Amino acid sequence: MTIETNSPEETFALGQKLGEQAKAGQIYTLNGDLGVGKTVFTQGIARGLGITEAVSSPTFTIVQVYEEGRLPFYHFDVYRIGDIEEMEEIGYDDYFFGNGVCMIEWAELIEELIPENSIHVTIEKDLEKGFDYRRITITGLEGWENK
Ligand code: ADP
Ligand code: MG
Repeated sequence: MTIETNSPEETFALGQKLGEQAKAGQIYTLNGDLGVGKTVFTQGIARGLGITEAVSSPTFTIVQVYEEGRLPFYHFDVYRIGDIEEMEEIGYDDYFFGNGVCMIEWAELIEELIPENSIHVTIEKDLEKGFDYRRITITGLEGWENK
């Protein structure tokens, strides 16, 4: 599905709706250029899960864990990862195959670890449609409908 937004509030609201509907074990991958709205979207997801703590990108760690919501929320930013072994070192599989919701920024860098049933979110700008326009494409939600 593709959703178009025209403000950060709308992107946040979309994330919030998905967070409210998120299910244990879901993994979201999140791709898009710097400044496109990945953090805004992630903040929406977190709010939808019932997390009130401020969510920003995990700068010094690969994964940031939030446990105050309806489900645990594991926010990964693998941008600075050197190799796949670093993921093994942090025990990524406990998060990926646990009972929380994972959000993985820059998932393309660890493509071989991303499970088949993940949900892929891509955010893009289109300057012809305005400075605040974003096209948000979500695939992979279909398989989760009856879970
Ligand atoms: P990223 O995490 O992808 O680097 P951020 O979420 O930190 O990006 O920043 C997105 C920036 O774009 C914010 O300054 C936000 O206010 C702005 N923005 C403008 N329009 C939108 C929109 N439709 N959706 C999300 N962010 C938007
Ligand atoms: Mg960000």
